[in-house]
Amino acid sequence: MSELDVLIIGGGISGLSIAQRLTREDACVEVWEKEDHPGGKIQSDNRDGYLTEQAAAMVLNFRPEVNRFITESGLDDCKKPRADTSHRYIVNHGQLNKLPMKLGPMMASGMWSTRGKLRMMLEPFIPKGGSSNETVSEFIIRRLGREVLDKAMGPYVAGPLASDPELANASSILPRLVALEKRYGSIAMGVFVHRILKRKTGTETEAFSFQDGMATLVKSLAYNHGVCFRGGHTVTNLLQTKNGWHVTADTTAGERSVNARQVVLSVPANIAATLLAAHSAELAKLLDDIKYASLVVAHTGFDKTAIKHPLDGNGFLTQSKGGSNSKTSLNGCLWMSSLFSNHAPPGKTLLSNYFGGAKNPEAIKLSDDCLINETMKTLAPLLSIHGEPEMVRINRHQQGLPLYHGDYYSRMQQLKKLLTQLPGLHLEANYRGGISIRDRLVCAMLSSENILRNIQSSSTTYSLNKLKLEPQN
Ligand SMILES: Cc1cc2nc3c(=O)[nH]c(=O)nc-3n(C[C@H](O)[C@H](O)[C@H](O)COP(=O)(O)OP(=O)(O)OC[C@H]3O[C@@H](n4cnc5c(N)ncnc54)[C@H](O)[C@@H]3O)c2cc1C
Repeated sequence: MSELDVLIIGGGISGLSIAQRLTREDACVEVWEKEDHPGGKIQSDNRDGYLTEQAAAMVLNFRPEVNRFITESGLDDCKKPRADTSHRYIVNHGQLNKLPMKLGPMMASGMWSTRGKLRMMLEPFIPKGGSSNETVSEFIIRRLGREVLDKAMGPYVAGPLASDPELANASSILPRLVALEKRYGSIAMGVFVHRILKRKTGTETEAFSFQDGMATLVKSLAYNHGVCFRGGHTVTNLLQTKNGWHVTADTTAGERSVNARQVVLSVPANIAATLLAAHSAELAKLLDDIKYASLVVAHTGFDKTAIKHPLDGNGFLTQSKGGSNSKTSLNGCLWMSSLFSNHAPPGKTLLSNYFGGAKNPEAIKLSDDCLINETMKTLAPLLSIHGEPEMVRINRHQQGLPLYHGDYYSRMQQLKKLLTQLPGLHLEANYRGGISIRDRLVCAMLSSENILRNIQSSSTTYSLNKLKLEPQN
């Protein structure tokens, strides 16, 4: 029976990034993944010149740790920065309106009523408040007013984050804004201070993908760093032992088992719940209660001549209040070939359209034809498109993104407490610590340091000698 320092279950970005960090430190690690390929949600499809992303389209980063991770992974040369198309659009009264990202131009924008502008200007004078369970809509209305929720933050939370602003936990979904209020008493004041600090630290926000799309990142982590990635391993059982965990998986070659000092479960919450049910009914229940929103991505390719709009931006979001959104309508559209020139063949355009989320649960049931009809019903008038798309690809995610809804913060505190009763077990996936790739990489760095410390303090017999860490007294 082989023995490992760490077994990572699940080969998505959460699991792979931890594996890469630990392997760098010479820990004896394996990744067991159900599918035969790495990446989990992150998969790129490069056919006929169109490079489409099944899930994450880019990394949006403002954390220096992520830059360090990319550099240490040898991926700096493969990075493809997003084109400098700063415009973001929002659909308002059936028209595309630019949504300025800077405070001054934002206030001057014609999309706000005078009352809405005056309410925004009050923000620095609103006293601190709110509980750890405050929802996004309560937080935004309290600080910036209803109009900002309906016209800007609501579409952002319901679109890219797939959540319902009325239910989503503000401190988990908008941690930066909530932290600014806590620290500086006001979002505007916090932004101002951070802008000055940023000049000093040089940590600018940047968005990027990679040479062959997001798959470059996960493939590189799985295959280029000495990580032992084992596809086709569906973990079915975990048993606690004296020194750690005994893990069993179904593989194409039959059942396989391993002993590992530390186990990282980087699988969706409901799978973790099933695997842990025999060890802690309470923990399993907490995990099982984490709900996911379904999501659909409909990629459409056009000849450039079919579109009159200059596509001079990132894309657009639609509004869920006061707009024409139905239960199945489009949440937003990314103008992928404007952002990354290598995502469409020369002379062609790739538009990736997003449906679903907590507020549109019916979208996943729509047929391909229905999705394309809905897409074209929205795109054609907004972008002046003539004719039908010449390329269509559709990706459905039944469990698209976890929902940080309700008393999420307290549930995560409870989960952390329960985990202390299962030594050597770690839960690291996108239902904890953030859904974005940036958050996943930051969590991986913290978690791998913690795991290395655990191995170091518990290991006297095997593989400690391989660790580069200095023994702790
Ligand atoms: C449509 C969409 C668009 C997105 N866009 C962006 C974006 O632009 N930018 C961004 O930063 N983020 C984006 N995200 C979020 C991001 O892609 C995900 O949060 C992230 O990829 C999740 O990684 P993970 O490793 O936590 O989970 P997963 O990728 O789900 O990995 C879990 C892995 O566990 C495996 N597994 C399950 N059960 C078992 C078992 N029993 N044994 C072994 N293995 C098992 C699965 O096969 C899977 O590979 C998007 C997500 C979606 C759905």
